[in-house]
Amino acid sequence: MNAPESFLNDLPIFTNSFAALPAAFYTRLDPHPLPDPCVVGLSGEVADFLGLPAGFQSSPQFAEIFAGNRLLPGSEPLAAVYSGHQFGVWAGQLGDGRAHLLGGLCNASGHWEIQLKGAGKTPYSRGADGRAVLRSSIREFLCSEAMAGLGVPTTRALCVIGADYPVRREAIETAAVVTRVAPGFVRFGSFEHWASRDRDQEVRQLADYVIDTFRPQCRAAANPYDALLRDVSVRTGELMAHWMAVGFMHGVMNTDNMSILGLTLDYGPFGFMEAFDSGHICNHSDTYGRYTYRNQPHVGQWNLYCLADAFLPLLKRPEIARAAVDETYGEAFEQTFARLMRGKLGLLAAMPDDEDFIGETFGFLQQHRPDFTTFFRVLSRLPAVPDRENQAKTDAPLRDLFVDRAACDAWLDTWRARLAQTPWSDDQRQVAMLACNPKYILRNWLAEAAIRQARDKDFSGVQRLLTCLRRPFDEQPEFEDFAALPPDWASGLEVSCSS
Ligand code: AMP
Ligand code: MG
Repeated sequence: MNAPESFLNDLPIFTNSFAALPAAFYTRLDPHPLPDPCVVGLSGEVADFLGLPAGFQSSPQFAEIFAGNRLLPGSEPLAAVYSGHQFGVWAGQLGDGRAHLLGGLCNASGHWEIQLKGAGKTPYSRGADGRAVLRSSIREFLCSEAMAGLGVPTTRALCVIGADYPVRREAIETAAVVTRVAPGFVRFGSFEHWASRDRDQEVRQLADYVIDTFRPQCRAAANPYDALLRDVSVRTGELMAHWMAVGFMHGVMNTDNMSILGLTLDYGPFGFMEAFDSGHICNHSDTYGRYTYRNQPHVGQWNLYCLADAFLPLLKRPEIARAAVDETYGEAFEQTFARLMRGKLGLLAAMPDDEDFIGETFGFLQQHRPDFTTFFRVLSRLPAVPDRENQAKTDAPLRDLFVDRAACDAWLDTWRARLAQTPWSDDQRQVAMLACNPKYILRNWLAEAAIRQARDKDFSGVQRLLTCLRRPFDEQPEFEDFAALPPDWASGLEVSCSS
């Protein structure tokens, strides 16, 4: 076996590109140690694409490093400053109150930055403790990796490290640290921060950093800043479409939680749609339902307007800042959403009436409230042309999701009529649909069961869920229980901002 130190010698060298920005953008500080850390969950895939040496994960150094007790070679930890709009209201300065950006690396799989979440206070903690609890850390870890498995743009998670260190929330819980991995963690609020202070030069420096580091293609445009804004707008539109198509609800779409790279960022009180209700509020703290499922595309646009306003000093014609959003966002959202929904419904090619049919389908789901994920998964296996005599039997797996079977039959007739307009082999269609309609999503009750086990120091549930959710479209008979609807004990589960 390798001596522990030799792993440190084999690690890739990290550099912190964000640290090249002027000092006002961040505060340099080391993570705070967490006593007796242990590995709660680990994504082998993330470890692989980071190029971490084999065997490192099982060395004692691993938990020490990703608890923040030892530094990675070359890392220059820092906490970044940002501001933002929270629940539609300007909140002023926020910043990484419990995140330390360690640095990043470039390799064949891309540019990756590594951030510890929950490794103690920073100058931006605003009186809070800088920690994250085991519960929310497991949820963020699992959901990051589940979303990646679903093909949704997202920050990734390397691991969760836990410890017995007590943390006070509504009750006393224990601390944990999630290692997040992404090309970058710049937020809409990072720009709003400087714009709100009329610091045009810093807005420009940040935009230049984002362009040069992540979007060099924008440099070639007549106005690189306008090109960047449009890029963010398109990616955010695409991201919202992905969320809607998998039934993901972020729960806290504040502008400080919006990624400039169009990634799902900051997993808190998120949820996946179960019994369909477009007005579902997944965040118990969202009293007025600002972030319901159906509001997400609109909120994405609202947030982009905040970003556009922050870009005003950079644009040659500031009066068109919001137009950059208007000219790109809606189209990116609608086209991506239509494409994803056609995939979910097994429609081979676009037809003029698709938008109506998709709208009608959502109306039907809203009225009858089947489990969103199960509905599309079961639909995938139904034949395009049923044998009329046995139709009730053939369609039973879907009909059983409805109290009103006649309504289900009527919708199926419409669906089949639409399928007939762009026919393809049933086998091919079913395979294609199964690749668009996941069998496994991170239901709250699944996360909760794994969290309860982990509190008793049994981390096998976290790892099992991770293994399953990395391949959400594949049948995995050993994980059949994870595809089940919520059990009775889970009916009262609530998720709030407390994390
Ligand atoms: P969130 O609602 O998790 O997106 O957090 C909003 C802001 O509060 C961000 O600036 C976080 O860094 C900060 N924050 C949240 N929880 C804590 C905590 N326990 N300690 C310090 N800062 C926190
Ligand atoms: Mg946040």
